[in-house]
Amino acid sequence: MPIPASQPSSPSLDSAAVRSGGTVTDRLVEANQRYAADFTDPGMDARPVLKVAVVACMDARIDLHAALGLELGDCHTIRNAGGVVTDDIIRSLTISQRALGTRSVVLIHHTGCGLLNLTEDFRHELAAEVGQRPTWAVEAFKDLDEDVRQSMQRVRTSPFLLHTDDVRGFVFDVTTGLLREIDPQD
Ligand SMILES: [Zn+2]
Repeated sequence: MPIPASQPSSPSLDSAAVRSGGTVTDRLVEANQRYAADFTDPGMDARPVLKVAVVACMDARIDLHAALGLELGDCHTIRNAGGVVTDDIIRSLTISQRALGTRSVVLIHHTGCGLLNLTEDFRHELAAEVGQRPTWAVEAFKDLDEDVRQSMQRVRTSPFLLHTDDVRGFVFDVTTGLLREIDPQD
């Protein structure tokens, strides 16, 4: 069913609004219509202005652009569960650097991450349940700082990347909004 163009705007996609009718995706599509109504083409190309790629956890509490003072077009944001540097993150970073001109890499893990409560048992239990072993590792971790160091190391030693001299890692505190930098040597 088409959505009327003159839908009154709602300040947030709160759960009450979702309950009042339609799926959450319907709400997002409505919000997009309001967004597009005020949108003007910024005329940018695809290369990030600040030449930086930010790799972070997908956690819903981290607003990367607000937390880092970033504007539209400034950076690549590459997110997954944990902000872990997997082969697919390396794929994205390789394209980011070689095709789209980024030079710096910022890695962000965070306090209260869901991966702190998981182990590789998650993967074994999943395999037992569905009868198929996933090809990926869960990449669960117990020590945030150590996992940030591991992630920095994976980026720095990747043979595919052009720029590995400016790679820095942080833990974002979801209760204060502050980043704490991790020393790669500790
Ligand atoms: Zn997380």
